[in-house]
Amino acid sequence: MELTRRQEIMTMLRDGEWTLDELARNFVVSKKVIIDDLEHITRSVPRPARLQIRPPTCEGCGYRFTGRSRFSDPSRCPMCKNEHLAPQRFRIT
Ligand SMILES: [Zn+2]
Repeated sequence: MELTRRQEIMTMLRDGEWTLDELARNFVVSKKVIIDDLEHITRSVPRPARLQIRPPTCEGCGYRFTGRSRFSDPSRCPMCKNEHLAPQRFRIT
């Protein structure tokens, strides 16, 4: 089961960009489950492909959350405390 879902996620990420919410909704699992899957996938993607993270951005001030290595979405902007953040997106390239 788990292996199948991870393989499906890898296929989706090769075809396009997805957010945690979109992946969780697609597989009807919690975001925590998707985060676990992504942590596994990032170690198992065959080279030279890589799991890429396009960082989340603040819709209030435009702040970009660069240099993050975590897969969870931040809850608020550290600059303006806005909670309306464009979620990070994942893809395999
Ligand atoms: Zn902000």
